[in-house]
Amino acid sequence: MSFRSGRHFLQIPGPTNVPDRVLRAIDRPTIDHRGPEFAELGLEVLEGLRHVFRTDGPVVVYPSSGTGAWEAALVNTLSPGDRVLAFETGHFATLWRAMAERLGLEVVWVPGDWRHGADPERAEAILREQRDIAAVMVVHNETSTGVTSRVPEIRAAIDAAGHDALLLVDTISSLGSIDYRHDEWGVDVTVGGSQKGLMLPAGLSFNAVSEKARAARGSMPRSYWDWEPIIDANEQGYWPYTSATNLLYGLREALAMLREEGLENVFARHARHAAATRAAVRAWGLEVLAADEREYSSSLTAVLCDDADEVRRLILERFDMSLGAGLGQLAGRVFRIGHLGDFNDLMLAGTLCGVEMGLRAAGLEVEPGVAAALELLEAASVPA
Ligand code: PLP
Repeated sequence: MSFRSGRHFLQIPGPTNVPDRVLRAIDRPTIDHRGPEFAELGLEVLEGLRHVFRTDGPVVVYPSSGTGAWEAALVNTLSPGDRVLAFETGHFATLWRAMAERLGLEVVWVPGDWRHGADPERAEAILREQRDIAAVMVVHNETSTGVTSRVPEIRAAIDAAGHDALLLVDTISSLGSIDYRHDEWGVDVTVGGSQKGLMLPAGLSFNAVSEKARAARGSMPRSYWDWEPIIDANEQGYWPYTSATNLLYGLREALAMLREEGLENVFARHARHAAATRAAVRAWGLEVLAADEREYSSSLTAVLCDDADEVRRLILERFDMSLGAGLGQLAGRVFRIGHLGDFNDLMLAGTLCGVEMGLRAAGLEVEPGVAAALELLEAASVPA
């Protein structure tokens, strides 16, 4: 591709823009991962992670993409042949299900239309009937659809059914952008990744772990993913293997940024940008995929559009902006606007301008929409 001036607009729903502060933090000489300087870094990031996951318990960090932490959540807690309950909320829930089956679990699969989150009523009904379900798996924010499941209601459903299943939640595209509380919501394993709300490159993944999850210790084979040796080494700020030191430098900086802004403000900023995006989508005369307003995602918006791939192609070619493609059964039928991570009003305005110009370039007759988004941004006050 020929030279392009200015900064590329990376508006996929992760990996997200890595802020300059984080890039500079990563750009440091590496250090001995068994030396005293490292232990300080290790202890600091583990403490910072507890704040973001809102837990007092351990957060296990892996040098892997999020998929590794999915596997870790399953192999640390379950035994071959265990039955787990999962919901067809979109592409990532479908992939997690496939992984569970490959690992020898029996998945009770609740079919869905990819426009709604996990259904708490269905969960309660199934759990009342099926007492042998060992775990409930929920993707908090479906990155393929822009739908956020109501995790506290799923927790309440498990309790209402008087069931003791573990609750395993994927927060890969919600952590650091949508309100989430591991301890308060009674989650047993929370799965996270570095490359979205945490504003880092891909390469770190996480399991926040409840006491109940640790005690479960099923009989699945596990070695690299085993929590226990990692939690032991973490006591002193180390890992049992070579650490991804430079990513941990970046993580320390990203966690500091989230603390400086304040998590409540981070969530409010994302919610405001999501609302402005939906205002633009509606003004264009297009439809947001998420069907229930209680489940609108703050971190991305999936937009139904028959010419989605052509629109994305033109936007990349003409305006140097990447949007998310439709995944799985949504291929070619939606484009996804990522508005999470290191992001502000003018970046959103630029993004929406690019989308609007792209829609017109593709020959769609759309009404102006950016103005509706700007109006909402002006009216909704910026958090303190
Ligand atoms: N779960 C969700 C909700 C995701 O968005 C992704 C990736 O985008 C994954 C799981 C898989 O994570 P990774 O691609 O980092 O392995």
